[in-house]
Amino acid sequence: MQKQNNKKYISNYPRAGKFGVYGGQFVPEVLMHALNELEEAYLRYREEEEFNKELDYYLRTFAGRPTPLYLCSRLSDLLGIRLYLKREDLVHGGAHKLNNTIGQALLAMRMGKRRIIAETGAGQHGLATAIAGALFGLKTEIYMGEEDIERQRLNVFRMKLMGAEVHPVASGSKTLKDAINEAMRDWVANVRDTHYLLGSVVGPHPYPVMVRDFQRVIGVETRWQILEAEKRLPDALVACVGGGSNSIGLFYDFLDDEDVSIYGVEAGGKGIIAGMHSATLCTGSKGVLHGTYSYLLQDEDGQILSTHSIAPGLNYSGVGPEHSFLKDMGLVTYDIVSDREALHALELLCKYEGILPALESAHALAYVERLVKEKDMGRDDIVVVCLSGRGDKDVEIIEQALALQQSGLGLGVR
Ligand SMILES: *Cc1c(COP(=O)(O)O)cnc(C)c1O
Repeated sequence: MQKQNNKKYISNYPRAGKFGVYGGQFVPEVLMHALNELEEAYLRYREEEEFNKELDYYLRTFAGRPTPLYLCSRLSDLLGIRLYLKREDLVHGGAHKLNNTIGQALLAMRMGKRRIIAETGAGQHGLATAIAGALFGLKTEIYMGEEDIERQRLNVFRMKLMGAEVHPVASGSKTLKDAINEAMRDWVANVRDTHYLLGSVVGPHPYPVMVRDFQRVIGVETRWQILEAEKRLPDALVACVGGGSNSIGLFYDFLDDEDVSIYGVEAGGKGIIAGMHSATLCTGSKGVLHGTYSYLLQDEDGQILSTHSIAPGLNYSGVGPEHSFLKDMGLVTYDIVSDREALHALELLCKYEGILPALESAHALAYVERLVKEKDMGRDDIVVVCLSGRGDKDVEIIEQALALQQSGLGLGVR
């Protein structure tokens, strides 16, 4: 196969929270104390043996790590490559998100904070936070847009079952970005006893680096698992990019490997028309959102655009700053996959392997089909896809979309 441009990545702790020009801390003065306190605690405990032992213990005994690296036999035959899935769908809760919420909850307790708050869009991060809150007996409150609460009733119910309180947010577009604003407001007012448990590699420093490090377990495991199975590294890695946490978690430990090509897949939705997609890196421009400088989707006046994707977890108008840096460096190739292509890949994985992936993860899988053709891949080429979550949460959306497709109305432009 043809190889990607491969420079070396200087992988270390970002100075002043910057990845090149991206990242930083664009927050009101009142939040600076909280961010500094968090960074100090993070830098201290990430090195501490006791903390890492405890984190490892809960990841193994509670979350179900290490997750398998599974070689798809029938789908590999169909595609003409060796296709491996990193099974984050088998993490407790049904997605990679728990890797991060367990880590941050343990950190919060070390900092003497017994109350955690979080934002959620589709409800997956809210649920993973509620699970961690119940596990450790922490008071847990989740901010969620009214619009999202309406669309994701079952996830709201699950969070409440776990003992979390869900606060409806009625401001703005009543979706994820408004929930983040509300959570930040709460944090400012209650910083003494409260930790803000952010769900992806976004927001002000130290969140992008801290969440990345908690998700790195995906790539670290993948590395020893593929070496054990194939005695060599993969030719390509593929993951979907919403905020960017499952993808950077898989990619990070391979960024220095010249022979590994790396692909991040964004949601092309119904087509590249404002409001119809979530392809931030591929079509956006630079600016500040939620405390960080990165690519984002905005209009000419700098107003944040709304997003669409058939995958609820890919609906975010921003993206982690480290991804913006990796894009500019040419170390990761970012591309888009439409609703229709993702749905097709989802059906394929169900029929060929008996695995129902999350609609988010189906975007990564769909991209592999294109990669095989464009990069002229063959039977010896190894591709690892991050299967970030399971699709049980999406069955209603899938059912409706397939019915629409069969009726001939289709899913839109592409
Ligand atoms: C939330 C979510 C995503 C997107 O978030 P990232 O931070 O980009 O990983 C992807 N897949 C699943 C299953 C999710 O729940």
